[in-house]
Amino acid sequence: MAAELPAGAGARGAAFFDLDGTLIPFNSGVRFARSEYRDKRISRLQLAQSAVWMALYRFSLVDMTRAYEKALDHYRGVPARELDDRTRAWFADEIAEALLAPAREAIAAHRAAGDALVLLSSTSSYLATVVSEVWGLDHWLANIFPTDAEGRLTGHFEAPLCYGPGKLERARAWATAHGVDLARSAYYGDSLSDAPMLAAVGSPYAVNPDPRLRRLARRRGWPILDWAR
Ligand SMILES: [Mg+2]
Repeated sequence: MAAELPAGAGARGAAFFDLDGTLIPFNSGVRFARSEYRDKRISRLQLAQSAVWMALYRFSLVDMTRAYEKALDHYRGVPARELDDRTRAWFADEIAEALLAPAREAIAAHRAAGDALVLLSSTSSYLATVVSEVWGLDHWLANIFPTDAEGRLTGHFEAPLCYGPGKLERARAWATAHGVDLARSAYYGDSLSDAPMLAAVGSPYAVNPDPRLRRLARRRGWPILDWAR
């Protein structure tokens, strides 16, 4: 009779990384909005709204969902190919060099340990793809914007929004499909909205945490990493 394996035995671990405020010291969405404003693709009002979204980023799921709906409404009908190209050019200009040195070291350490490397971010699939390619991550979980038959954005996003509890839902589904055990996995996140995912992994790290996440991390005994200093 075969011995019963303990739960999770044989499954491997993954290292999940948030992007904004974690791997990079700022919010990429706001930078993208500024770039769109410079290129006259959004108005001054929309640029101002994006600053509000940055604040909302740290707030509730309801607010984030509304912010995404509003932003995506503006991109309805835009060819996905065009957004992909624009995102790649903007990544090269403004994001590529922003990877924090301790983040680069953590990615290398997890790679050496044999962990799967996964970007877990509320950013677009376009930015998540190029980030993963250039920084050497194996997979990404981010927000996907469906397109119509002509490859144009429909103005919607795939539910659940990859943010807050939606991040955990995405990560759980991905882990199950890839034989990864979250109890053997790590997550690096900077925001209180990352708490559901942080609570679900065996090795949670509060990186550059906002004050509320810092308090929670202290209470729960999660290590705090100040990568942006
Ligand atoms: Mg973040």
